[in-house]
Amino acid sequence: MAKGAEAMLADLVAANRILGREGILDAYGHVSARDAGDAGDGFFLSRARAPQLVEEADLLEFSLAGEPLAGSAQPLYLERYIHAAIYAARPDVGAVCHSHTPSILPFSVSLTPLRSVIHSARFIGTGVPVWDLAREFPGEWSPLVRSLRYGQSLAAALGDGGIVLLRGHGAVVVGRGPQEVVGRCIAMDRNARVQETAHRLGEYTPLHERECEDPRDPGPPLARDNREWEYFMRRAGLL
Ligand SMILES: [Zn+2]
Repeated sequence: MAKGAEAMLADLVAANRILGREGILDAYGHVSARDAGDAGDGFFLSRARAPQLVEEADLLEFSLAGEPLAGSAQPLYLERYIHAAIYAARPDVGAVCHSHTPSILPFSVSLTPLRSVIHSARFIGTGVPVWDLAREFPGEWSPLVRSLRYGQSLAAALGDGGIVLLRGHGAVVVGRGPQEVVGRCIAMDRNARVQETAHRLGEYTPLHERECEDPRDPGPPLARDNREWEYFMRRAGLL
């Protein structure tokens, strides 16, 4: 296996552990990744397991149709089609996280839209889409994104952005790789808490549009080192 792919798998295991440790994912939710040089072929995702417990041996390779390449007798995440459809639609995406993070759930059902309110969550932007399965598929009452066509509809709602909310369900965050998606998920959680508190205090000022990231050209991260990754690796017991 290429060195880049090995590093990607190690980062994907760490992303699972960190997102579990930080309360972004609990028993449910999942994070996937693919090799940057491999866009178009497939992606890696754990078998159905709580993310904080995931080890490298749990990772399976999936096709862009959401099925395991080598076949598997093990239970799989029912919502793996979220990942498959987004990778198929977005060559720029190297990692995807689907979460049911408690802080984000109010914004999936409220008329108050999620906005970037803190500098570290500039990727959220000014117009976060909220995808509603019942509205997109009238008469189909599925609590889960358990088919490729549901996943494709969700990927279309995401568009070229970094985040989409699922009404009464959770969020999907994408990034160029596992480290970026972990940073974004943690920033998403902080942003949601700050916005909810600020909303209770009264009027508040979200980031201006030009302070937010351009999803087509997000640029380099704010820090020029790996302080954040090292910090969360240590907190997850991986360093
Ligand atoms: Zn879900």
